[in-house]
Amino acid sequence: MNAGVQVFVYPEELDHTGPSDLAAQVLELGCDAVSVAVAYHPARRVFPRHRRVSVLTRSTLYLEPERSRYGSVVPTGVPWEGLLRFREACDLAGLRFRAWIVGLHNGELAAAHPHAAARLLDGSPAGHSLCPSAPEAVEYLAALAGDVAAQLSPEAVDLEAGFYPAWEPSYTLTLALEPLSERARLLGAQCFCESCRVFLGAEAQARAYAAAGPPFGAGADDEGILAELAAARAASAAQLVAATAASVHAEGSLLRVFASGPPEQAALQGVAPESVAAADALLFGCGPLAGDELLSRFADLRTLAGRSGSVSTNWIRGRTALVADVERLVAAGAEGLALYNLSLVPEAGLEAFRAAAQAFRGAVPA
Ligand SMILES: [Zn+2]
Repeated sequence: MNAGVQVFVYPEELDHTGPSDLAAQVLELGCDAVSVAVAYHPARRVFPRHRRVSVLTRSTLYLEPERSRYGSVVPTGVPWEGLLRFREACDLAGLRFRAWIVGLHNGELAAAHPHAAARLLDGSPAGHSLCPSAPEAVEYLAALAGDVAAQLSPEAVDLEAGFYPAWEPSYTLTLALEPLSERARLLGAQCFCESCRVFLGAEAQARAYAAAGPPFGAGADDEGILAELAAARAASAAQLVAATAASVHAEGSLLRVFASGPPEQAALQGVAPESVAAADALLFGCGPLAGDELLSRFADLRTLAGRSGSVSTNWIRGRTALVADVERLVAAGAEGLALYNLSLVPEAGLEAFRAAAQAFRGAVPA
């Protein structure tokens, strides 16, 4: 997959810009591809150029699901006419179309299927996510990705939230007067649901609890538990990624998997060479990081995954070194650039997107 430069966009962008105009705008920014949210988590999203706040009050699938593809876990979805027209407009304009799906982060499905839902270390429901260890969750994610690929024929499905959840994913907020330590956040997000216990056992939970520190155990010195948990998560995540890749491949599309967060966290979420082996490409989510922090996050995630990929980076007001960052990322081996996010960026950011795309193109060896 020639990753190139892509921009993320929400379908609601099409409420403001017609399909062919939007495709033309993305090309004019210097991008080769657009990745459109097709399944997304609840979120309050500020669209500054359209003077609008777009709120998803629930997990949203912008398609009517093909029910026969799914097992017991079936998403609800509403067809989004503009999305289909934009899909066609991308082909006409010569813009590569990718489908961005938020996979396991779905609070409604987690509530409706508690046996397949992720839990926190103390056994309480995480509330927002299905657990990758649950066979129903694997079946669901493979079906969703295949469904989206079949209906939209994207070049690739960009899979976000395909690993074990971290402590604080998008759109949750922990209320704690004394913030949790990094160790407690890492281990506190570890799931020991019925499906996880099949391969982790009760002893691993007791050790994780003891090692986590307040508000869990006392903080026992047990470095080994982190590596053991990471290895187990990687083996389990590998099955999920393989099933999802097979489902997407059957529809003629590629699967690109997101990995993000500090490397210690990503490892405990299941990111490893083994788990991403079946993915066609990777996307390292580096969010608001810039400069040396951005470069070292890319290097860390690349090392963890055992291969390179594209880098997703945010526009930030006052970020003067975006072009330099892009050049450094390419020199460090980044395969592609993903700009976050056309719907969220103010007018002032469009020029920065244009410059970043140009810098990427100039830095990549012909
Ligand atoms: Zn679990």
